[in-house]
Amino acid sequence: MVQIEGLHKLFGDLHVLRGVDLTVQPGAVSVILGPSGSGKSTLLRCINELEEIDAGSVEVAGERMGYREVTRRGRTRLHRLHPKVVARQRSRIGMVFQRFNLFPHRTALENVMEAPVQVRGDSRSTARARALELLDRVGLSDRADHYPAQLSGGQQQRVAIARALAMDPELMLFDEPTSALDPELVGEVLGVMQDLARSGMTMVVVTHEIGFAREVADQVVFMDEGVIVEQGAPEQVLVTPREQRTQDFLAHVL
Ligand code: ATP
Ligand code: MG
Repeated sequence: MVQIEGLHKLFGDLHVLRGVDLTVQPGAVSVILGPSGSGKSTLLRCINELEEIDAGSVEVAGERMGYREVTRRGRTRLHRLHPKVVARQRSRIGMVFQRFNLFPHRTALENVMEAPVQVRGDSRSTARARALELLDRVGLSDRADHYPAQLSGGQQQRVAIARALAMDPELMLFDEPTSALDPELVGEVLGVMQDLARSGMTMVVVTHEIGFAREVADQVVFMDEGVIVEQGAPEQVLVTPREQRTQDFLAHVL
């Protein structure tokens, strides 16, 4: 579902991703761990084309994201695709951030309906029926008419997940979806994510929730300083890590 090869990303002189190769199988859940500043968010943002890349390729469902290669006089360069094409590619990917980013002046229901109506042109009645279904799926059918300020952080994050699902994404990206939540609200969001994983959704999740990684992940990826240091089955990476840097990190977070 996701195939990343030789991905490099620089911010000015800062070389943030230094040759990342990663494969995510359809229906699989990948958990990405790593210290602050190691490039985890940047990697997700490159998958979702929120960042332009400097080298390498990102493919989602067999389609190269954002660029095509043009070879002229023996030199190959990346050409950015037209913004409309990029927008269509991005619409296949749902993303959930640490901060819930809901529209504050719209109810939960309206937040979930927004993109299907505005971007895809669904009728309001179709979008509404689907949004109610999704709110039910994340356990919030009784909160449809609440505004974000009237919802707890965990409820807001579940609305954000429903909103991302409303565009029927083929891939869901999560960037520390529970790290802004009070501890007692973390479980309800992880529960919704676990249900989503069980339903067969392909997911890439940046999180420090080791329990979630152990139970739900198909592969765990440890990043440091812009490279993947180690990846493999959860038990292998979390219980018997091969690399010293992984061991040090786990000793720190566990
Ligand atoms: P954290 O765990 O703190 O979220 P992270 O692994 O997600 O960290 P990134 O946010 O990907 O790390 O950042 C990697 C590096 O890139 C950091 O040094 C960061 O300061 C830098 N960086 C990220 N975004 C930008 C930007 N837009 N402009 C300049 N530098 C950036
Ligand atoms: Mg980050």
